[in-house]
Amino acid sequence: MTPPTTAERSSAMMKQWADIKARHQDALLWFRVGDFYEMFHDDARTGARILDIALTSRGDGIPLAGVPVRAAADYLRQALAAGHRVAICEQVEDPKLARGIVRREVVQTITPGALLEDGWIPGARNNWIVSMGGWAEGRIDRKLVGLAAIDLSTGEFVLEVVEPVRVAEAIARLAPAELVVPAEEGGSSSHPPLGPSALRTPRDAWQYDPALGADDLARHFGLASLDGLGLAPSDAPAVGAAGALLRYLNEIQPGGLAHLARPRARRAEGHLWLDEMTRRNLELVEPLRPGARGATLLEVIDATLTPMGGRMIRQWLLSPLRDPAAVGERLDAVEVCVRDGRGRARLREALDGVRDLERLAGRAAAGRATPRELGALRDSFERLPDVLEALAALANRHTSTALAGAEAGLDPLPDLTAELRAALADRPPAALAEGGVIRPGFDTQLDELRDLRDGGKRYIAALQQRERERTGIASLKIGFNKVFGYYLEVTHAHASRVPADYERRQTLAGAERYGTPELKAYEAKVLGAEERIAEREESLFDALRAGVARAIARIQSTAAALARLDVWSALAEVAVTHRFVRPRVTGSFGLSVRQSRHPVIERLIGRDRFIPNDIRFTEAERVLLVTGPNMAGKSTILRQIGLTVVLAQMGSFVPAEAAEMGVVDRLFTRVGASDDLARGQSTFMVEMSETSAILHDATGESLVLLDEIGRGTSTYDGVAIAWAVTEHLHDGIGCKTMFATHYHELTQLPERLQHARNLNVAVRETGDTVVFLHRLEPGGTDRSYGIHVAQLAGLPTSVVRRAREVLGTLEGDHRVVPGAPPPGRDPAQFALFGPADAAPHPVVEEIRGLDLDGMTPREALLRLAELQRRAAEAG
Ligand code: ADP
Ligand code: MG
Repeated sequence: MTPPTTAERSSAMMKQWADIKARHQDALLWFRVGDFYEMFHDDARTGARILDIALTSRGDGIPLAGVPVRAAADYLRQALAAGHRVAICEQVEDPKLARGIVRREVVQTITPGALLEDGWIPGARNNWIVSMGGWAEGRIDRKLVGLAAIDLSTGEFVLEVVEPVRVAEAIARLAPAELVVPAEEGGSSSHPPLGPSALRTPRDAWQYDPALGADDLARHFGLASLDGLGLAPSDAPAVGAAGALLRYLNEIQPGGLAHLARPRARRAEGHLWLDEMTRRNLELVEPLRPGARGATLLEVIDATLTPMGGRMIRQWLLSPLRDPAAVGERLDAVEVCVRDGRGRARLREALDGVRDLERLAGRAAAGRATPRELGALRDSFERLPDVLEALAALANRHTSTALAGAEAGLDPLPDLTAELRAALADRPPAALAEGGVIRPGFDTQLDELRDLRDGGKRYIAALQQRERERTGIASLKIGFNKVFGYYLEVTHAHASRVPADYERRQTLAGAERYGTPELKAYEAKVLGAEERIAEREESLFDALRAGVARAIARIQSTAAALARLDVWSALAEVAVTHRFVRPRVTGSFGLSVRQSRHPVIERLIGRDRFIPNDIRFTEAERVLLVTGPNMAGKSTILRQIGLTVVLAQMGSFVPAEAAEMGVVDRLFTRVGASDDLARGQSTFMVEMSETSAILHDATGESLVLLDEIGRGTSTYDGVAIAWAVTEHLHDGIGCKTMFATHYHELTQLPERLQHARNLNVAVRETGDTVVFLHRLEPGGTDRSYGIHVAQLAGLPTSVVRRAREVLGTLEGDHRVVPGAPPPGRDPAQFALFGPADAAPHPVVEEIRGLDLDGMTPREALLRLAELQRRAAEAG
């Protein structure tokens, strides 16, 4: 039989590629050929584009692009960031032994949601892959939607069942890297919005079957039934979603789920509902202006010291509690840490330097942890006794059941620590192949091998000395290279003195290299030992790693306890440094905060420059209308109430002198279109649909914060909408509402609404200008001071003067009549320009159409000059 030609081989390989590709259509197929992962056809085109590598073609014209295996990690990261999944296809037999084409198989598929790699995902947040079911024909039209979320890097596993209207909220909170959904028949419009680089993975709808899911969960965790997981029959949709997710992850990363923790059910009714707009408008974890620093609440309160704590404080912030007792438990723990400053410092010192236990243990369980990572685990475990001691020394710790719970959950892992301490070198290398992983004295066999190797090395060093003396060549030296092994090197100058028993091996420009039988014998000893040392170290290290993997549940419990301790002590640290107080969180309606401050702005402008204010909602006064000119501080007050509620319900102290608050079930914060920096493009339509969602979802226990709602349209439209919305919240829903507006017309609302009250942010008028006092006072404003603000902003004096004249005319006599809806067009407005029934002058039409908010003062001035010229021409 003649061996296949190159062309035949190559076409057989392409057939193999096509077979494999057919099974991995949705992924970039990285096809191992020698030292490269090759992509072909469309994969090559896509790969070349997103990875910025050369697109070439094979002899037969097939497009080709490849990445070198040793640089694969970087390219892989780029491909994932571009929202792709990558199927890694390896040669699964030794090419030298292969008959015909080397066998190849996809060994794993890497996706943005299925990542374990250290340093690829930010430590301070979870990398969730979320599966959502309870869909029918691609739409969420069942009564309940099941969610299952897994963070493969930490092993966390959360189940949640939500009403369809809450899906967007849940997805926004988790911000998944990948969303697994039943394959749908229709369009994708019913899918919730995802982040830009997140991936959507369709699965067959049958995968979401709850009965199958229950089987899979029980099998995965070795349980007879799911009873032990605290799941209820109503959790079925989430169990279905979990089954689909487990099957998917097992498919793409076979054997990669060993470290998964048992699923925990998140109950919506236990948590404060924060929808996406509220999360954004309050700048909880992300600034409205991308890249802005110091703008988020998270930045202010995140004094955590460990990555686990960092992730947990973020989770708590995005998902505050609703049960006053549960909030109280967290507050008790924080308070203990607040009161004992020295104890807190000691606890934080013990926590500092504890590494990412969850992710390190996860990598160990997946068989991927490096020696250095096990070393990091050991060093972290070594601190656990300190943490426990610091905890035991905390004054009054018995007043907190939560602290006791954390103490009970914190397993100091003495057995594992002792084993790692005994076995691992002080500073283990990054890669096993570097050697020196196992500590001397741990394993006799390894020690003997090392002695043999070192003895051989010492013997060789001694041999050099002996040979120098024997030959009288002082410059003779013994060296080593991979090709020739050990050799004796003599410069040409001394060639004549070389003894007869030297065997020539290699000639260099200035020297000659020789071997001797004696050298050869020791070489064999040294090299053989070297090889066996590597084998022995590998097997010892594997055993060590397996030991960690077996203890995964204990490590996870410890990590969770550490995370809580870290968060409590961090919140206490923040409370003390920034003078926060413990809020009294109750089940009643009222909300009252004395000398409340905005935690983020006071940080930015300095504590002494921030003016605190008292804020109070009661059943009798539950709708607060805050008026005041632009820049007075309305938005600030509104947001500070929202932030204070979030802080209190997540279990934190709050920036105030005293606070008493009834828990809130849902918190809504809406900002009128033109105030919405991040969505500069957003339209009035968006603003209105958000407002409508509030009216739909808010309950009597909710807190609704509306900032300049209605300002995306004309003044009268805006006032009318704001008026009607407020009436509805007051009469129909009865929730706590704060409405900030510069429409002073709205101050007449409380005359009609029994439980509404006017407040204003005070300004002092001095002559023609205003000073902002940032002080909340009872009563409404009767003016908008817009012109004052325009003046402060530097509008030319002539324009300001003219604006005053025009205002005088406009204000002639329009007041909204109490009890009546706000008026439509006021005839007085048109008197300025002519009879109301006459067709308006084109210049008037144009003035009406002007978007003043969208213009710079200079543009406004130029337009005014132009309008004046045209009015003069027409007149
Ligand atoms: P408005 O919504 O009324 O236009 P903002 O709430 O946006 O006003 O406040 C404008 C600016 O005034 C803020 O950026 C802040 O710097 C300052 N400010 C607001 N409230 C206070 C306060 N209570 N103390 C000190 N400065 C404040
Ligand atoms: Mg504002």
